[in-house]
Amino acid sequence: KNKYRDMVVGVNAKVPLDDGTYITGVNFDNAATTPPFYSVEKEVRDFLPWYSSIHRGRGYKSMLSTEAFEAGRDIIKRFVNADSKRDVVIYTKNTTDSINMLASVLSQNKDGRDVVLSTWMEHASNDLPWRDKFFVDYVGVDKFGRLSLEDFEAKLKKYKDRIRLVSVTGASNVTGYINDIHKMAVMAHGSGAQIHVDGAQLVPHMAVDMQDFESAAHIDYLSFSAHKMYAPYGSGVLIGPGAVFENCLPYSQGGSIIKLVTHERIWWEEPPQKNEAGSPNLIGTVAMVSAIKTLSKLGMDNAFSQEKSLLEYAYNKMKSIPDIKFYGHPGKQEMIGVIPFNMEGVHHSLMSAILSYEAGIAVRNGYFCSHPYCEKLLGYSPKEMEELMNDPDSLFPGIVRISFGLYNDYGEIDRLVYILNRIAVNKKYYIDKYNGSRGRYNIK
Ligand code: PMP
Repeated sequence: KNKYRDMVVGVNAKVPLDDGTYITGVNFDNAATTPPFYSVEKEVRDFLPWYSSIHRGRGYKSMLSTEAFEAGRDIIKRFVNADSKRDVVIYTKNTTDSINMLASVLSQNKDGRDVVLSTWMEHASNDLPWRDKFFVDYVGVDKFGRLSLEDFEAKLKKYKDRIRLVSVTGASNVTGYINDIHKMAVMAHGSGAQIHVDGAQLVPHMAVDMQDFESAAHIDYLSFSAHKMYAPYGSGVLIGPGAVFENCLPYSQGGSIIKLVTHERIWWEEPPQKNEAGSPNLIGTVAMVSAIKTLSKLGMDNAFSQEKSLLEYAYNKMKSIPDIKFYGHPGKQEMIGVIPFNMEGVHHSLMSAILSYEAGIAVRNGYFCSHPYCEKLLGYSPKEMEELMNDPDSLFPGIVRISFGLYNDYGEIDRLVYILNRIAVNKKYYIDKYNGSRGRYNIK
């Protein structure tokens, strides 16, 4: 039995099957969101009696709440080894919010550098926020979907002094590939650019170190979300040099961020407070910091090796299933616990429905907010995708993704492999049962 299993809430929850019976659900959709730790639940419950207004209150509870909120920043800094003096931890809603904030801030102090270098591997959150503010180009991937460092080098040369920022995901939410962010940092800094790492998929799964100034391998900006690391939705962070935020307008404006305001003038607070307009998500922050304390205690290297062994176990068993096709190159590059696949003849939506109704297994299917990357992996052109989108009768292509948390166990993988094998040899039965005119669900 996995020793981390009892740490998370809900692993024994029963879910309904198609035949009306119930089974203990399996969650293989951890790349989307993870269930919370029990320690998070407890810490939030213990904190609630002390929950109060923060920053301005002089009451005892207010002071305690403020202290918890502020102390969280140092715990987060230590977790990713941010620079204690240079960096500020700005509390945000999630990674998307963090990247929008960074895009807004950097677009204000353009210094002749008007290019953001993103990649083909990005989630829409690390692509769209840059588009209307910078000229964006995308570092290519090879036929397995791995980021091409040769293309990165070529693009750094091509744009020379024009690159303001390299913005890259730490790990792909589709293929699980872990990018060599420190090598990329050295290369970006060598061109005078800064680097932002979208840590949404990296920070929950392996140790991240933002520093390494001597070899120029440091990470300038890092963003991530609590809900992918065993705390609930609603809180995240953007970490970066305070000086950058000092010189820019906050992208959201209102209360809490001003020392003094007259109708003529505004005197801003210092970052990070300057960048946190409005009443904050105090409980969300307490939960996020609590999850980080638990992860620190169990050790990110242990979390990584646990998930790696799940990945290897699953891939080794899945590869002999008939008609299965994997995307990416499992086992050939450092990866987080993600396996993207399809089974020939079974549409991805139908596959995820069958897994749920027949075996109580939750997976994700589709494009995972990474359209250009999935198009490339699936071999469709943007034009073909546009036509499919506009055709109401088309079955939109996509991928099935399983993604592990450190609490998943081998028995759950065995259940997945068992049902996949059954589907593979009884495709017609399952397709008729769940789809089309005779099917019960007509899944598209
Ligand atoms: N980047 C990556 C790589 C992601 O996987 C996700 C979430 N799927 C995001 C960004 C966005 O995270 P959030 O929805 O928490 O803002």
